[in-house]
Amino acid sequence: MQSIGIQKLLLLGAGHAHVQVLAELARSRPADLDVSVLTPYPFQTYSGMIPGLVAGRYSAAEGQIALEPLMKAAGARWVQGRCTGLDMGARQVQVHALDPKAAPTSLGYDRLSIDTGAVLDRRQLDATMPGASTHALVVRPIEVFAALWPKVLEHALARPVSVAVIGAGAAGIELVFAAAQGIRSAGLRGASFTLITGGDEVAANYTPGVRRRVLRQLKRQGITVLMDSCVGMVPGSVRLGSGASLACDVPILAVGTHAPAWLQGSGLALCERGHVLVNAFQQSTSHPEVFAVGDVSTRADAPHPRSGVYAVRAGPPLAHNLLAAHHGRPLKPHHPPTHTLNLLSCGTQHAIASYGPLHTEGGWVWRWKDRIDRGFIARYRLD
Ligand SMILES: Cc1cc2nc3c(=O)[nH]c(=O)nc-3n(C[C@H](O)[C@H](O)[C@H](O)COP(=O)(O)OP(=O)(O)OC[C@H]3O[C@@H](n4cnc5c(N)ncnc54)[C@H](O)[C@@H]3O)c2cc1C
Repeated sequence: MQSIGIQKLLLLGAGHAHVQVLAELARSRPADLDVSVLTPYPFQTYSGMIPGLVAGRYSAAEGQIALEPLMKAAGARWVQGRCTGLDMGARQVQVHALDPKAAPTSLGYDRLSIDTGAVLDRRQLDATMPGASTHALVVRPIEVFAALWPKVLEHALARPVSVAVIGAGAAGIELVFAAAQGIRSAGLRGASFTLITGGDEVAANYTPGVRRRVLRQLKRQGITVLMDSCVGMVPGSVRLGSGASLACDVPILAVGTHAPAWLQGSGLALCERGHVLVNAFQQSTSHPEVFAVGDVSTRADAPHPRSGVYAVRAGPPLAHNLLAAHHGRPLKPHHPPTHTLNLLSCGTQHAIASYGPLHTEGGWVWRWKDRIDRGFIARYRLD
C-alpha cells in the first residue's frame, strides 16, 4: 500500500535514536513526508560525556550534538518546546513552548515517534526524600544539570565543600569520581566526597568482579561509601535512613529514573512503571501509528535495561521502520543485544570496562571510551 498525500511524522524529543532518524532522513526523505521535531533545546546532550564535563575534561559543546543543522539537512521543522500531554484519539500532542509568553498549543501527526528519555519526577522524589527537589542538584533534565555544574564549581572553589552523590548506579558512580576530579584538579583542597548507595551495594547491577574494581577505585580516591538511604534534605544536610545526618554542601541526585507523567492517562499502553509499551518493531502495542524508543519505552517481548547504549542501538531500526511504515512496507524487528559494553569512567584517566562476565580496567579503557564518545558526536557534526 502506498502512502496517500502528505503524511505528518512528529518526532517527540531529540534523543539518541532520533538523531539517527534525522541523519537517515538527511540522506533520503520521501517528498510526501512532512517531518517536525518537538524538543526543548537546539542541541542533544550526550550523557556519556557529562561525567567528563564535570571532571573538567570536556566543554559543554564537546558533549552536544547540534540539532539545527541536522534538522535542516533532514528537511525537518523544529518546534521548540516540551510535550505535556497526548490526545491519541485526535492524534494531537500538547505543547508547552519554552517562551513563557507563548500560549500552550498542540501539534497534529499521522505518525508519532517518542524518544524523550526518562525523567526524575520532582513529586516522586519529594515523596520519598522531602526537600530533595529543592535542595539537590538533580541529574535530569541533563541539560539543566550540565548548565548548573559550572556554578557549583565556582561555589566549590570559594571554600572546601562536601559533595554527596545519592545513587550508586553507573551515573552516580561516574559522577562522584568526576566531581572529585573536577574539584580537586581545580586546586581545591579539603573537599570531601561521599557516595550514598540507597542501602544497596555499590554498582548493584554489575558483576561482583566489576563491583570490586569500583570499590577499589573509590577507596583509592578517598571517596566515602555510605550504604544508607537518603530520606530527606534540608539546606546543608542530607538526612539518612539510619537516623543520622550528613553535612553536605552539594547533594547530587542520581537515583533511578521515572516515566514522564504526561504519558499517564493518554490511552497509550504503558508498562507497570508507566513507560510506553512497544513490540519488536518499537511500535506501541496499543496504537500502531506510535513508535517509542530509549528510556521512555519498555519492550513487551524483550525487556532490557534503560541505558544510552540501548537507545543508540534502536536508532537505525527505528529509522527503517518509520520509513517502512510510511511506504506501507513490512517492518523489521529490532533485536536488542543481550550484553552491551559498559565503560565506567573513574575520573578522566582511568575507566572500568565490562561486557557480560568479562571485565578489565586501566588508562587505556578511558582513552577507548573517550574515542567512542567523541566519535559518536562527530558522526552528527555537519558544520
Ligand atoms: C550522568 C549520566 C551518565 C550516563 N552515562 C551513560 C553511559 O556512559 N552509557 C549509557 O549507556 N548510558 C548512560 N547514561 C544513561 C543515558 O543517559 C540514558 O539511558 C539515555 O540518555 C537515554 O537516551 P534516550 O534517547 O532515551 O533519551 P535522552 O538522551 O534523555 O534524550 C531525550 C530527548 O528528549 C528531549 N525531551 C525530554 N522531555 C521532553 C518533552 N517532554 N518533550 C519534548 N522533548 C523532550 C530532551 O531534551 C532530549 O533531547 C547516563 C546517564 C547519566 C545521568
